[in-house]
Amino acid sequence: MSATGTLAGRVALVTGASRGIGRAIAARLAADGADVIAIARSADALAATKADIEARGRRCFAVALDVADGAAVTEAVKRVVEEAGRLDIVVNNAGVTRDGLLMRMSDDDWNSVLDIDLKGVFHVCRAASRALAKSPAGRIVNISSIVGMIGNAGQSNYAAAKAGLFGFTRSLAKELAGRRVTANVICPGFIETDMTSGLPEAMKQQSLGQIPLRRFGAGEDIAGVVAFLCSDAAGYLTGTVIPVDGGLAIGGFGG
Ligand code: NAP
Repeated sequence: MSATGTLAGRVALVTGASRGIGRAIAARLAADGADVIAIARSADALAATKADIEARGRRCFAVALDVADGAAVTEAVKRVVEEAGRLDIVVNNAGVTRDGLLMRMSDDDWNSVLDIDLKGVFHVCRAASRALAKSPAGRIVNISSIVGMIGNAGQSNYAAAKAGLFGFTRSLAKELAGRRVTANVICPGFIETDMTSGLPEAMKQQSLGQIPLRRFGAGEDIAGVVAFLCSDAAGYLTGTVIPVDGGLAIGGFGG
């Protein structure tokens, strides 16, 4: 089936595409006409994403790898981009949390979050940059968190990694602008996925009380903004950090 839609003919790479926000992003980019390179560690979990994208008439290249493994990322991105024929969009969405108060945080808690949530983004962007530079409208979208902007007790490792994405992405925006590649950050607020499903009910209700739009977000709320950033309509937008959080970062209800 030939593609129609705002992203027809484009190829998008999405990390963390097997569930949650990443799966919603992969589905939305495919619905908008893009073929998708879907990455996560579990090959089994990627099968559902692949079926979803192919049901929309688009090609899906499922790649099981750990973004923290720089050599694996370099090899796989080169191979799969050759197979797909081009690369136009990179969405770095894979991420994990290892929460704990600073006093009790182990080196492993710190390193594993920084290795995946920050260094993993570096690995993927480095591997993808040459191919993106050949695209007529290259796009990098890095998924950070509102926690990177405002901090959160018990998440110093996660906040450091997510805030690191701001400077990293703005640097890429400057470095790649001459090649027509834009680079932007999205900061989700509280989104209902596996990452948040295990939180205590009292904590969820407390968070809900801080969201002016009075609901938790869904993966589709983030996917819609990613799709906009990847479209031609956002061609003059680069180096920005966009909260998509129901107003959480501005705090409290206005009335
Ligand atoms: P999720 O439901 O836990 O899904 C995480 C995805 O990332 C899965 O596909 C997972 O698949 C993949 N992944 C994790 N570690 C990986 C690694 N080392 N290499 C490759 N893939 C990896 O999380 P989510 O809630 O959708 O979150 C997606 C992104 O949004 C994350 O960056 C998160 O920090 C950010 N975010 C989420 C929220 C929220 O409220 N949910 C809020 C702000 C920001 P495998 O386990 O198979 O690898």
